[in-house]
Amino acid sequence: MSTAIVVGAGIGGVTAAVALQRRDWQVTVLERTPELGEVGAGISVWPSAVAVLEQLGVEGLEKASIPAQPAGMRKPDGRWVVKAADLGVEIPVMIHRAQLHDLITAEFGPAVTVRPGYDVRTIEQDTKTVTVNGELRADLLVAADGIRSVVRKTLYPQYAGPRYSGFTAYRGIADVDLDDGGGETWGRGQLFGFARLIDGRFYWYGTANQPAGAQSGPTVFASWHDPIPRLIAGSEKVLHNDIYDLTLPLVPFAQGRIALLGDAAHAMAPNLGRGACSAIEDADALARHLGSMAGSLGSADGLAAALTAYDAERRPATTKLVKRSRGLGRVAQTENPVVCTLRDGLFAVGGKLVSLRGRK
Ligand SMILES: Cc1cc2nc3c(=O)[nH]c(=O)nc-3n(C[C@H](O)[C@H](O)[C@H](O)COP(=O)(O)OP(=O)(O)OC[C@H]3O[C@@H](n4cnc5c(N)ncnc54)[C@H](O)[C@@H]3O)c2cc1C
Repeated sequence: MSTAIVVGAGIGGVTAAVALQRRDWQVTVLERTPELGEVGAGISVWPSAVAVLEQLGVEGLEKASIPAQPAGMRKPDGRWVVKAADLGVEIPVMIHRAQLHDLITAEFGPAVTVRPGYDVRTIEQDTKTVTVNGELRADLLVAADGIRSVVRKTLYPQYAGPRYSGFTAYRGIADVDLDDGGGETWGRGQLFGFARLIDGRFYWYGTANQPAGAQSGPTVFASWHDPIPRLIAGSEKVLHNDIYDLTLPLVPFAQGRIALLGDAAHAMAPNLGRGACSAIEDADALARHLGSMAGSLGSADGLAAALTAYDAERRPATTKLVKRSRGLGRVAQTENPVVCTLRDGLFAVGGKLVSLRGRK
């Protein structure tokens, strides 16, 4: 049986473990934190990633999630720019991150061993094997260790890596009674969005332009339309992350016996809500290409061919998403009043046109 070490038990790493297990790999997941899990926030999961999870046999997704209501876009004073109720566009489902993570790890069988509290510091590889911290060996290493990936730094020491987007993000889960479908509100250099979760609580996120490391809190939204201040006040905990993405061009997702996956390979700004979905799709693609070369994986050439095919499928697709997320981030976070007025006008007209087309 082929053996794999997965570094990192975020959504990408645990999905990779399930996908490899389904293809008869023996998998060891190494996670530096003492416990597996995900942060207290929601996440949008788009249909393509839902399809992958279902095909991998992850159960319970439908019961734990709720389709996002396409409610549209408002201005900070509450006026609608565009209502998206009738657009007929593809919408994601919303789910609590911890629940999604639990549903995926619930699929771990005897072929998956998890080692929490294990910090990967060194990686070495030769034509036959890959070695972690001089002690753990496997046929394949999957680097799912996030945007600051130690594995990526080892493979590509010259690569510039993460780059600050210029804005920060706040997130929370609010326990408030609301009769509001959610949606996004775009201001000047700030954006706020919220969506209902299956248990009736609301996931919200707010972004604001500021230097990396600044600690101002989501106070900027205090004067925005109802229910935004109520959502923030109704949250037990507010998460705060400066937003980085990876420098383009992305590095190759495969080198020797090592594959990069998820944020380690293609961290993107969260504006499209696709980073974790892409990690899920990476996991599926990686396992699929390894599966199609199953007969020749014993040789370094067979493995290299599978990993090259994985890179060829996923790097161009995720490069596009990194670019699109960055572009949308620039539009969403602009502070120029003229550009904001133009932007909102274009969204309003665009929304009407799409809506009219949808009714034909
Ligand atoms: C504000 C915000 C909102 C977002 N919203 C969405 C959304 O709605 N939909 C969506 O699809 N995506 C969204 N994303 C993106 C998504 O969160 C990420 O793309 C996704 O979580 C990346 O998963 P990952 O498994 O690749 O990496 P991570 O989640 O970063 O996991 C990496 C894991 O590796 C471990 N690790 C790191 N180094 C080591 C080491 N040396 N040894 C052992 N373990 C190690 C870490 O502890 C961690 O558990 C959002 C991101 C942000 C910031």
